[in-house]
Amino acid sequence: MRIAIDCDGVLADFVGAALMLPEAINPYEPEKDPDLAACFGGEGAMWAAIERAGYGFHHELQPLQGARAALMRLRAKHTLFCVTSQPFIACKYWEHFRTQWLDIRMNFHIDDVVFTRDKFHVRADILVDDFPRHVNAFAPKAALIRQPWNAAKTVAEHVEVYDSLAHFAEVYG
Ligand SMILES: [Mg+2]
Repeated sequence: MRIAIDCDGVLADFVGAALMLPEAINPYEPEKDPDLAACFGGEGAMWAAIERAGYGFHHELQPLQGARAALMRLRAKHTLFCVTSQPFIACKYWEHFRTQWLDIRMNFHIDDVVFTRDKFHVRADILVDDFPRHVNAFAPKAALIRQPWNAAKTVAEHVEVYDSLAHFAEVYG
């Protein structure tokens, strides 16, 4: 199968890296408010802080537990590529830092990385993502990775739900 895999919240601890930025002034309580940007005072302020951090943001970006082993397991059987969103505001070197991170940390070649916020544009047999909007729009098959920020969200009928990429790999690997 061709499996499209999201980066943040599936492979990478975006929330952890973002909360290390000094501009994150409010605590993050995803059960109360799933919007991480609220910690920064809004979407624009969060991305401006990430842009200011430059390479530092991706330097601090940690793989989620079990993600690398899960990729290894899935790669033995399937064709994998990464589909990752564009920042809300222009971040000058975002694509460069991100493709470098995906290469070094996750062994994704640059040819296997797609940048788009509209993930239904890509051709894949299944999309693995932590964002209900993306998996709901990705028919006929998608998988949601459960995270505190999507715990309260319901998903469409075609969407399978997993605790982690490791859990997904147990089924598909
Ligand atoms: Mg994500």
